[in-house]
Amino acid sequence: MDGVPTPLRCFRDCHSAEMFVDDGVQTVTSVEQKKVERSIEEVISVYKQMHNLPQPTLLREQHYQYLKKGLRHLSDAYECLDASRPWLCFWILHSLELLEEPIPSAVASDVCQFLARCQSPTGGFAGGPGQHAHLAPTYAAVNALCIIGTEESYNVIDREKLLDFLWSVKQPDGSFVMHVGGEVDVRSAYCAASVASLTNVLTPKLFEDTTNWILRCQNWEGGLSGVPGLEAHGGYTFCGTAALVILGNEHMLDLKALLRWVVSRQMRFEGGFQGRCNKLVDGCYSFWQAGLLPLLHRALFKEGESELSRQQWMLDQRALQEYILLCCQNPTGGLLDKPGKSRDFYHTCYCLSGLSIAQHFGNVDLHHETILGSEENRLAPTHPVYNICPEKVAKALQHFHRLPVPEDRRQPGAPATDRPSDPDAASDTLS
Ligand SMILES: [Zn+2]
Repeated sequence: MDGVPTPLRCFRDCHSAEMFVDDGVQTVTSVEQKKVERSIEEVISVYKQMHNLPQPTLLREQHYQYLKKGLRHLSDAYECLDASRPWLCFWILHSLELLEEPIPSAVASDVCQFLARCQSPTGGFAGGPGQHAHLAPTYAAVNALCIIGTEESYNVIDREKLLDFLWSVKQPDGSFVMHVGGEVDVRSAYCAASVASLTNVLTPKLFEDTTNWILRCQNWEGGLSGVPGLEAHGGYTFCGTAALVILGNEHMLDLKALLRWVVSRQMRFEGGFQGRCNKLVDGCYSFWQAGLLPLLHRALFKEGESELSRQQWMLDQRALQEYILLCCQNPTGGLLDKPGKSRDFYHTCYCLSGLSIAQHFGNVDLHHETILGSEENRLAPTHPVYNICPEKVAKALQHFHRLPVPEDRRQPGAPATDRPSDPDAASDTLS
């Protein structure tokens, strides 16, 4: 991966050299991989026949209509996500902010009231009203409330009880369980660090030993697994790395090994990312994997790496945009995993988030864009640690850092005033 932008791949005469070669050994994996490549080839050839446009287009209006409808009405297909309702709020609101579509104040207020009903009396947020608090919907709810970014939305969060909830899921070895009595994995450390830092309840004691536990998740491949000893995976790698950035300890990872692992997950032919070695491309990894590059770039920059580009991340940004725009858009709105799959709000959110990462480089001082297609395709930038727009991160930090850190009840007599992380550093994507 040399990171040099390529011309639009689909208009090259021949790119079969980048297709998968099974060396005569056919496996379930190789059959599936070839099937996906054929389906992508077909999408590209249909696109070339139907369009005289030189570049693919983001179906902005269709996505907006799909998202707007989802805020008020969901089909029966979403019944299985009854315990993930704050996630739906986050996926839709974040997609809308990336499209720079304002959220009407009445809708924003309704979302606040709904999320207030998801807040548990013992702190944290549940997947729906009356359910048990869980770190994943807590992350989604706090992010959604920060996207709304009003006094009403900030006031929904009971910070004292949120800190109590975070303590109730903290484990003696530094890890966190997803909910009381639930499973441990590195998602929980990220969700906890994300909400604690955004709302200013982060205390050193709460994250004691967490860094060491996360570091144990980095394996011989270079990426991170869900718990120590398992296979490296894009979602877990993002969570572990972003949590370490929040805790100010990302330099303790083997950054070069991580870089090699993540850039090798961008598919040669497809242009999108796979989640694990030998797996198929999937649109949602456009964020979980490509989102690691800004974090890595910043960490390597801090280490004094002088060879780093000042204009682009270390991935083929155009190839990723091409995969998302050509292969992941439903013509009637919404985005998806790969050709042949159905659209959903999760993939809409993470395909758009990945598209935004691929379009923007750097922070305000050092900003460079690589927009594939017309200016109409341009999305708002996203913050690579929290995955909400950077100004919303800054606004939330500003709001909550005016308030004192709640007294850490697990440290009687020791007011928790010093924080291991620097909120300004966390809100800054590069320098
Ligand atoms: Zn996916």
